[in-house]
Amino acid sequence: MTVTPALSPAVSPEREAQLLSTVPTGLLINGEWRDASDGGTFGVHDPATGKVLATLASATSDDAVAALDAADAVQASWARTAPRDRAEILRRAFDLVTERAEDFALLMTLEMGKPLAEARGEVTYGAEFLRWFSEEAVRDHGRYLTTPEGKNKILVQHKPVGPCLLITPWNFPLAMATRKVAPAVAAGCTMVLKPAKLTPLTAQLFAQTMLDAGLPAGVLNVVPSSSASGISGPLLADPRLRKISFTGSTPVGKRLMADAAQNVLRTSMELGGNAPFIVFDDADLDKAVEGAMAAKMRNMGEACTAANRFLVQESVAAEFTRRFAEAMGALTTGRGTEPGTQVGPLIDGDARDDVHALVSAAVDAGATAVTGGAPVKGAGYFYQPTVLGNVPNGAEILGQEIFGPVAPVTTFATEEDAIRLANASEYGLASYVYSRDFTRLLRVAEQIEFGMVGFNAGVISNAAAPFGGVKHSGLGREGGSEGIAEYTTTQYIGIADPYAN
Ligand code: NAD
Repeated sequence: MTVTPALSPAVSPEREAQLLSTVPTGLLINGEWRDASDGGTFGVHDPATGKVLATLASATSDDAVAALDAADAVQASWARTAPRDRAEILRRAFDLVTERAEDFALLMTLEMGKPLAEARGEVTYGAEFLRWFSEEAVRDHGRYLTTPEGKNKILVQHKPVGPCLLITPWNFPLAMATRKVAPAVAAGCTMVLKPAKLTPLTAQLFAQTMLDAGLPAGVLNVVPSSSASGISGPLLADPRLRKISFTGSTPVGKRLMADAAQNVLRTSMELGGNAPFIVFDDADLDKAVEGAMAAKMRNMGEACTAANRFLVQESVAAEFTRRFAEAMGALTTGRGTEPGTQVGPLIDGDARDDVHALVSAAVDAGATAVTGGAPVKGAGYFYQPTVLGNVPNGAEILGQEIFGPVAPVTTFATEEDAIRLANASEYGLASYVYSRDFTRLLRVAEQIEFGMVGFNAGVISNAAAPFGGVKHSGLGREGGSEGIAEYTTTQYIGIADPYAN
């Protein structure tokens, strides 16, 4: 494995500085960027160098309440806007994000570390939620029907749920924001968005883009903060808030669900995963390795959908592991802005230490590092792309999210074993199955306890698909036609027999 030296950067320091100078550094409250009420700030770092990229205002609890004041003040008028008007704001936002794709991509690479090519992919994916929900905004169907007794009538309509708190993680700084903001706009909800403190810059630029697209003041408020609970605490206790949509880790999600119970809030929870990647002996191994690379290495493995456990049928395990390790060992690691970089740094030093602790424990338990297995020396938080062979069942690394470029391979004997091992997890988000036998794939999908299953596919996220998990991976769905329903509430109107009067 090579670490690309910083010889000929594709992106000049001047270009980086120019882009960073365009990112708003304040809090967005009622359509205006302003300082924190106590003047507090926090720094955002480049994980490839550890250097400070920007300093943002750090919202206080008072600022959070001011953001909810703004959201609440315009909720009723925003709910009454024509769906077509909301759709057109989203469509303009899609056009603007697409026009500014290079800025968004570079900003994500700078603050999060992913290679530029991947960041461009996230811009396309993230922008698609804006276009998708611009189309969904005008297709929200209610219904009118006669009661079974044949006299009275039933009218069912969907209304915006009300002001929402949206909390996003650091790993997909644009897509996690658009996946929440777009359906909320489509449904007619107002919002307070709290981006992750590690990667808030993209959300800041996105919020400005929504204003540029014509979103009225107060509909979207953004409160980056170094104190997440200082924002969520007062808002979840405030009766004006009607919903929380959270994407992040399972422990934080559980805490927020408990807090949200005080006011019986609608909740959408997109939490952690422990995706199995199952390879049967009748699979096309070339395709399986290609899919494994995509499912493991997207975002350096820092994805809730990342393949976390490779379950391979015994007779093909050695060959699959050999080919997979060869492909992983050939990847080029470096700063995301460098030409040719395929693997960027992990988000911070703690993340890298956690990944290495899991690898070391697996090796101590009997696994073999077929490739990689160690941090990369030098600046930044790089970790070698790693394949671990012969990982014993029950090893810690198979039981928790790795969130790094590490692939543990373990084996199974029969289809029943594969299903049992896959389901032996508290998580149930993404899963992947490789086989040439379509009925087997369907049989596995019927029995596997995961919200999403890829058949011979290593990447399954799509704005048109309902994304989400079961068990400790969460509640609710984002994207698809299900996505807008998370932001509406159902009202039933009972109508007396029109012939009786
Ligand atoms: P995290 O739970 O640490 O943080 C997520 C967000 O919650 C951040 O904005 C953070 O500031 C905020 N937060 C943290 N503690 C909080 C508290 N006590 N009160 C209120 N807010 C709080 O997660 P992360 O490290 O940013 O992201 C990685 C996790 O997110 C992984 O577990 C990953 O699987 C999960 N994730 C899930 C999905 C999905 O769609 N299911 C997508 C991406 C990431």
